Amino acid sequence: MMGPMRPVIIAGNWKMHTAPADAGHLAAALADATAEPAVVRVTCPPFVALAAVRDALAGREVAVGAQNVHHEAAGAFTGEVAAAMLTGLATWAIVGHSERRRDAGETDAQIGQKLRRCLETGLRPILCVGEGLADRDAGRAEPAVRDQLDGAWASFAAGPPGGADDGAELASRLVIAYEPVWAIGTGRTASGADAAAMARVIRATLAGWGWPRSSAEAVPVLYGGSVTSATIDAFMAEPDLDGALVGGASLKVEEMAGIVARAALTAHARLEAS
Ligand code: PEP
Repeated sequence: MMGPMRPVIIAGNWKMHTAPADAGHLAAALADATAEPAVVRVTCPPFVALAAVRDALAGREVAVGAQNVHHEAAGAFTGEVAAAMLTGLATWAIVGHSERRRDAGETDAQIGQKLRRCLETGLRPILCVGEGLADRDAGRAEPAVRDQLDGAWASFAAGPPGGADDGAELASRLVIAYEPVWAIGTGRTASGADAAAMARVIRATLAGWGWPRSSAEAVPVLYGGSVTSATIDAFMAEPDLDGALVGGASLKVEEMAGIVARAALTAHARLEAS
């Protein structure tokens, strides 16, 4: 039986690089070098560069994403950015990136609330999960990722009541990035087979929440961790994976041109098979 036709997505996380003065030029150059209509492209610059990137990307078919949102809707949280403040600036948001879990102490409970804030404000969340090296070495990678997902879901589901179809709305908007922590910014990548196995664990976990299997199967799962134009093929060759969240290489025009061109081959093959 054919599964759902999931989109191929390449998202770039610029992390703490660029400023309003140079971000627009970079975003435009990246967009022009990666113009592949079959691939969904998302660029996530720092907050202060969102407006410049939005303006530079007008008419270029690349979505703008934020790298984070706060878990509360508003309040006395100096220096933070609420999801609602991103209206008009971004349409996607990364949630639960491992660098924020590590540096800002973000918990699964907060991450679940962030998912809710994203839905409330119309943002499409890219939820990041991934095990650390100790868990991978101890054979605990899968339970570690399951725990992150279950923790976020428990908090999302317990959040302010928003209607009986909360889960359905999340299912229709959610993208998950499997990013093993030991592979981020290290030059090491997971194997395509290991990443695909984790994608299956992730979708089985969503189905375990009572989501219809078809909804769980329709959630795109990206791989992230030292993806370059030289390593993307291993992931795009896996039918269970739907693209990549790219960090370091997302700032390099040539690299992104190669990554998106490779991803487009998979996107076209899926379209032809559908
Ligand atoms: C990331 O920031 O999500 C990431 C995967 O980074 P890198 O590609 O640099 O490993």
